[in-house]
Amino acid sequence: MQLRSLNTQILLAAILGIALGAALAVLGKDTSVAQQSLYVAGLIGTLFIDLLKMVLIPLVFASISVGVANLRAHDQIHRTWVATLGFFALSMALAVVLGLSAANLFRPGEGMQLAMFADATRAFEARQMPLSEFFAHFLHSLFQNPVAALAQGKVLSVVMFALILGIALVVGGERYRNLLLLLQELLELTLLIVGWIMRLAPLGIMALLLKLAATQDIALLATMTKFIAVVIGTTLLHGVVVLPLILYLVTGMTPLHFWRGAREALVMAFATSSSSATLPVTMRCAEQHLHVNRSVGGFVLPLGATMNMDGTALYEAAAALFVANLAGIDLNVMQQMIVFLTAMLGAIGAPGIPSAGMVTMLIVLQSVGLPVEAIAILLPVDRLLDTFRTAVNVEGDMVGSLVVQKFSARR
Ligand code: ASP
Repeated sequence: MQLRSLNTQILLAAILGIALGAALAVLGKDTSVAQQSLYVAGLIGTLFIDLLKMVLIPLVFASISVGVANLRAHDQIHRTWVATLGFFALSMALAVVLGLSAANLFRPGEGMQLAMFADATRAFEARQMPLSEFFAHFLHSLFQNPVAALAQGKVLSVVMFALILGIALVVGGERYRNLLLLLQELLELTLLIVGWIMRLAPLGIMALLLKLAATQDIALLATMTKFIAVVIGTTLLHGVVVLPLILYLVTGMTPLHFWRGAREALVMAFATSSSSATLPVTMRCAEQHLHVNRSVGGFVLPLGATMNMDGTALYEAAAALFVANLAGIDLNVMQQMIVFLTAMLGAIGAPGIPSAGMVTMLIVLQSVGLPVEAIAILLPVDRLLDTFRTAVNVEGDMVGSLVVQKFSARR
């Protein structure tokens, strides 16, 4: 009952935050009431994200090593790996296909020209990032000194070290029982702290959404309405139809049941635009409401938060075609195949933080010779689009954990 009421509070807080933000926008951002409210909202929102980030690294470290160590039987680890990576690849591929199809069908950006945005693009200096460099950088970020990675909050490197430690704990067996127990206790304590932080979630979410709604530039959004509508529409299609369908076909869980359990994490992802900051909540929802086994969720969810990004993959593909239309370039089938692959790579390589997809988007644009300065046009609308794509990224992770649980339980 208590959980349900928190769920409801979070939803109401989200709606209230958007309404208050819209009211402030109407009132005018420069009035002193608006400025003070935005200051307070900014402070509360940032503090709330800071709290989530505070528990993130111990949580990822403990949950992955304990998760992997608990998948003791050798073939269970194997099956979980295959199912996890298979699901990530399949769901992201479907998302990219959706993004490409929608962009080909509706052709956002057609009739507009890059020259219309000359001021924005002139001021923008894009860093070149050839595919080879991106790939080398990604591989390099996998294996780092774990102490530095823990201290600097490098999630992907922590994930990799924890995976290896988990495997070593399995191979080492009984002899290392104490360390495993210690990690288990660390995990439980961190989850307890997450529970405390969640009590502040309604306030934090209200503050974040208030600020978001109050600071949108409506005139700018209006010039890109078609692109925004195509991206949001397709992202929702993936989140409301494709992912729930996969879930239903594999596990038999109905979409309503799933959304009721996943709601806290989805609203949180929407408000924070960060899969990583949402991870503590994602894990809590998966375990407590959707009854995902801790060893499966502890493995799939942190890995998914950094690698499995359906919303980002879809966005990168659709945005590349939008830029092509602006630049008056028609991408042929071969080039769209390249966009397909690089959008998947870009999504896998993007860390779970706000607007990360915009950075890895550079490799998509460069791979087919599109002007990278076009990112300057996309950046101002990104805060809005990032909300939806992060929510779908997190939804994909939770669906993934349920699907993998089903597969790894099969004998
Ligand atoms: N904000 C997204 C996430 O955290 C990444 C992106 O920018 O696409 O999942």
